[in-house]
Amino acid sequence: MNRDQIAEHLRFAGELGVAGVSRDPRWRARADLRAAPVPEPAEASPPAAARAPEAAPLRVSRSSAEALGAVRADLGECTRCKLHGLGRKRIVFGVGNPDADLMFVGEAPGADEDIQGEPFVGRAGQLLTKIIEAINLKREDVYIANVIKCRPPQNRNPEQDEVDTCEPFLFQQIDVIRPKVIVALGTFAARALLRTLDPISRLRGRVYDYRGARLIPTFHPAYLLRNPSSKREVWEDMKMVKSLL
Ligand code: URA
Repeated sequence: MNRDQIAEHLRFAGELGVAGVSRDPRWRARADLRAAPVPEPAEASPPAAARAPEAAPLRVSRSSAEALGAVRADLGECTRCKLHGLGRKRIVFGVGNPDADLMFVGEAPGADEDIQGEPFVGRAGQLLTKIIEAINLKREDVYIANVIKCRPPQNRNPEQDEVDTCEPFLFQQIDVIRPKVIVALGTFAARALLRTLDPISRLRGRVYDYRGARLIPTFHPAYLLRNPSSKREVWEDMKMVKSLL
């Protein structure tokens, strides 16, 4: 990291509510001690290490990459639901490390994603990238996907039949990648994955068992753009994520 990147990282960490950093090893040890085991489901416990260890080297297993390729091939130029005829430009399958320990799941592609064919590349995506970097990971280390793979017209909420049709592909992605932690971004993703109608405000702050992973719901980056004060809670959630990796 160069000086500008470090300055940007610290500025963002400050925005997310990190009160300070220290190179004193005792400071790190004290933070580690507070990384309590997570009850199931349970109120999120206080922070794990605010200064996380270096990110693990990228591991790309050929078989996971191939298996994801097979899921993508099966999806094809999908016409299974009505969204293919409602202005979709590109199918937005997912991006990142096929062997990621950490996976983010959003709602559906927006306009930028529909054009570029990659999830979370617009303004909300740029904030998501900063959130990933705030826990000392890079975008390429994680895997990013959505509950549905095609943009709904005018960014309306996905409809139930669209979710029912598309969700099996997300499940296959999860089963191939086998992440340790899944972060559900926003009400829609959290509700769809956890099969509940509870609002994100009630769902977050807990850790759930989900398809062999730990699932942590948090606010959607687009919500954070409108409600910057909620970055504090997202930072708490991300510290929990880090402690579980
Ligand atoms: N919002 C989402 O939920 N997903 C994207 O890919 C982009 C914005």
